Amino acid sequence: MNTSVVLFTADLRLHDHPPLRAALDGARQVVPLFVRDDGIDGAGFAAPNRLAFLADCLRDLDAGLRERGGRLVLRSGDVVAEVLKVVAEADADEVHMAADASGYAHHREHALREALEADGRRLHVHDTVTAAVEPGSVTPTASDHFAVFTPYFRHWSGHSQRDPLGAPRKVRVPDGIKSEELPSREAVSGTSPALAEGGEVVARRMVADWLRSGIDAYEDQHDDLAGDGTSRLSPHLHFGTVSPVELVHRSRLAGGAGAEAFVRQVAWRDFNRQLLAVRPAASRADYRTRRDRWRTGRKAEADIEAWRQGRTGYPIVDAAMRQLRHEGWMHNRGRLLTASFLTKTLYVDWRVGARHFLDLLVDGDVANNQLNWQWTAGTGTDTRPNRVLNPTTQAKRYDPDGTYVRRWVEELAHVEGKAVHEPWKLSGSDRARLGDYPDPIVDLKDGLDRFKHARGLE
Ligand code: FAD
Repeated sequence: MNTSVVLFTADLRLHDHPPLRAALDGARQVVPLFVRDDGIDGAGFAAPNRLAFLADCLRDLDAGLRERGGRLVLRSGDVVAEVLKVVAEADADEVHMAADASGYAHHREHALREALEADGRRLHVHDTVTAAVEPGSVTPTASDHFAVFTPYFRHWSGHSQRDPLGAPRKVRVPDGIKSEELPSREAVSGTSPALAEGGEVVARRMVADWLRSGIDAYEDQHDDLAGDGTSRLSPHLHFGTVSPVELVHRSRLAGGAGAEAFVRQVAWRDFNRQLLAVRPAASRADYRTRRDRWRTGRKAEADIEAWRQGRTGYPIVDAAMRQLRHEGWMHNRGRLLTASFLTKTLYVDWRVGARHFLDLLVDGDVANNQLNWQWTAGTGTDTRPNRVLNPTTQAKRYDPDGTYVRRWVEELAHVEGKAVHEPWKLSGSDRARLGDYPDPIVDLKDGLDRFKHARGLE
């Protein structure tokens, strides 16, 4: 066999890349292809922060391929049409790509297979590329998916994992296949000022640093908002510049309680994927309806805007929302408490919050974002769907001396200690110095009563 095409999607790396390995094993030449997909743009997933990060990833992938004698071919348009064009130009027999969990990815795979087979070519889809344990390989006896994380994780932990693959030494690309110019992050406008850098080289350095000096403290520090003691690998896992299989493998080798807690967290990613794979509608519809009649109207709109802008008057909520805007990333504890605040305290539809997160998050991911929003709103897989996080209690527990709030809410930078979490209690000159920092937009007790009433919990 002469030539295969490798379609890169959410796996923008050279290490541990089964489609690339299979193509190189079976063909003399390969065309590494990425298609900037109209479908994804149309669905509103092409947010500036992710486009800029993607540009870094594509340039880095191209550089890695060039070091090995190859290069990346970039095309834009309908993914099926573009793959067929490249297949024809290269006279390729086969296309290799990774499986993924969303309804969109299923549709893409199906359409590609039909089109290629009609043309006498073959599509090979490789599992365990975008998940450590692929959707469907771990299932309970009486259902097609796990609806609760803990039993899922028990099975997940016992599931044998393949060994990670190394990067190829040589990649031979046929002559004459045209590529568009690779995008650059500088050309993307509207990005967050402190956006992380993309690409496999950066990702591998981060993994090495994390395993050397971060993972051990993970169990104790992952919820400490100011300490920032999580891996920050989520954008790399989203774009596949880190292989989850390799990450889990190397974390297990590192060993210890920190590594165990970290691997457990990575398993949440697979949990969400196995759920989305069988319930694709959960990206937009309640997984379990609570018959919510979410608030709408002018006051609700004003509350939503205050939440988006980080001006709710609850400092911990505002700090996290401002971190999101500034970095395109937010600490998990921040995501939990801001999502609880929107859906339960303000009683606003989880889809409104999920949309805002997807507009800004560099790791914005249909499975992880929509299903975590549903989890927090109580319409998803949380076994305690009506729990409400009190932002002030959360603040005192996860930002005990207020460092995180002072870092992000400049109006409060002068307030010392935990008093920063309740600025409405300040008096005298401290209060006068708050400037235009708002009073709380909702009374927590009123919010709780409204929620209980709405969910019939009184
Ligand atoms: P670490 O704590 O270092 O964890 C390592 C990896 O495990 C993460 O990179 C991620 O891939 C995975 N992981 C950790 N926690 C979760 C979780 N709860 N669910 C699924 N996977 C997890 N994560 C995204 O990757 N994309 C999103 O769009 C996203 N949206 C979220 C929205 C809400 C409302 C909530 C509550 C959580 C969301 N998460 C999302 C999950 C989690 O907050 C992030 O993965 C995590 O904060 C990323 O930081 P980290 O890489 O330092 O995580």
